[in-house]
This record gives sequence, C-alpha cells and structure tokens, in this order.
Amino acid sequence: MDDEYLRNLMVDRQLVSRGIRDERVLAAMRKVPRHLFMPGPSRDHAYSDMALPIGQNQTISQPYMVAIMTELLELKGHERVLEIGTGSGYQAAVLAELAAEVYTVERIPDLAASAARNLADVGYRNVHVLTADGTLGDPEHAPFDRILVTAAAPDIPQPLLDQLADRGILVAPVGERYSQILVQAIRTGNTIHKNYQTHCIFVPLLGRHGWSS
Ligand code: SAH
Repeated sequence: MDDEYLRNLMVDRQLVSRGIRDERVLAAMRKVPRHLFMPGPSRDHAYSDMALPIGQNQTISQPYMVAIMTELLELKGHERVLEIGTGSGYQAAVLAELAAEVYTVERIPDLAASAARNLADVGYRNVHVLTADGTLGDPEHAPFDRILVTAAAPDIPQPLLDQLADRGILVAPVGERYSQILVQAIRTGNTIHKNYQTHCIFVPLLGRHGWSS
C-alpha cells in the first residue's frame, strides 16, 4: 500500500470520524508525509492511531492529537507561529502548510538536528528550528500570532503568554506529570481567556518554567 493511501485512511478513520472539521487541517494532514519524520523502526506504524517513539525517550504525537491542537489554533494562513517541542518536526510541517512562518524550539540538540534535516529534505522553507529551552519562548522573533506547546507543563510558562500577540491563540497541555488537559488560551488586550478542551498525555516540558527534571 502506498503512503498516500495510508494517509487518506488515517484522516478519514482517525480524524474525520472523530469530529475534526477544519478542511485546511484535514488537507494538510493528507499531504504531509508523516513517515519521513520518523526513525526507521517506527516508519511501518507511521499512520497508526498512536504516539510513537522517535528516540531520546521522546514521542511523535498521535495523529488525532496533532489534528485537535492544530484545529484549536484556528490558522488562516498569514500567521507567525511558535512551536515548543520540535521532536520529529512533523507537527512543525503541518503548521508550515497552514501558516506563513513557523519557529520551533527543541531542547535536545540531536532531535533538533534531525528535525531540521527532515523538514529541509521534504522541502519546507518556512520553518526555523532552534535548540534552546522553549519555556523561555523565542524573544528574538516575538510576538507570535499563535503558540503551540507540545510537551506538558504544570502551568503555561509566563514568557509564552508574554510573547503572544493581541488576539493571539496559545494551545498547551497543562496539568499533572502523567495526565493533562489541553488548554486553548486567547489573548484580548491584557486579558487571557482559557478554554479547557480534552484530556491528554504528553511527555514533560523540562526547563526553567516547566518541570525541573
Ligand atoms: N511536536 C513533536 C512532538 C513533541 S514531543 C512532533 O511533532 O514530533 C515533546 C518534545 O518537547 C520532545 O522532543 C522534548 O525534547 C521537547 N521538550 C521538552 N522540554 C522542552 C523545552 N523546555 N524546550 C524545548 N523543547 C522541549
């Protein structure tokens, strides 16, 4: 079976059937070659309904979780987006299909390097990978119209809220070490309004404004 067939099956069975409605998100996930962002051993399962190991004790998120988070960002195409937790680079590729510029921060240098390589190989020119503690955001390129955190913290790191533009949307898993709620935070002036979404489980966000270990 070819990978395009498997991708369409993934979108129809895992995303459309569970209520993902944003046509642009569905189209992006029909397009991005998820298997090319995975190390060899995980590739056979690239389009399965689960998170998968990408080395360094980290995981690429389940397709459905990528779709929910991306849908909650309500991207129209002109946005500058910050992602914290590059991992494989897959989520950054989906964002790159839907926004103008993507800045993505990863704390583990080897993962940042392989993600940057994969993104370049697949042809993304609008993604910039940085190696740093993403709990500090990316002050050099702030403010951002959208911020997506793909690792879990006890609370939304304050620097990220500070770097969110007016009318900007931030999505992050927040809660306990092994169980979180996905939060959509919307800035209007100096007010942050939080919408609590679905239960989720992410690897920890480790850093100054995250977990310490
Ligand atoms: N979005 C990724 C999956 C992320 S897994 C994908 O599409 O594959 C979470 C990632 O967050 C891991 O790679 C982990 O190393 C990274 N991470 C954890 N704490 C971080 C921090 N403080 N700054 C940047 N990245 C961090």
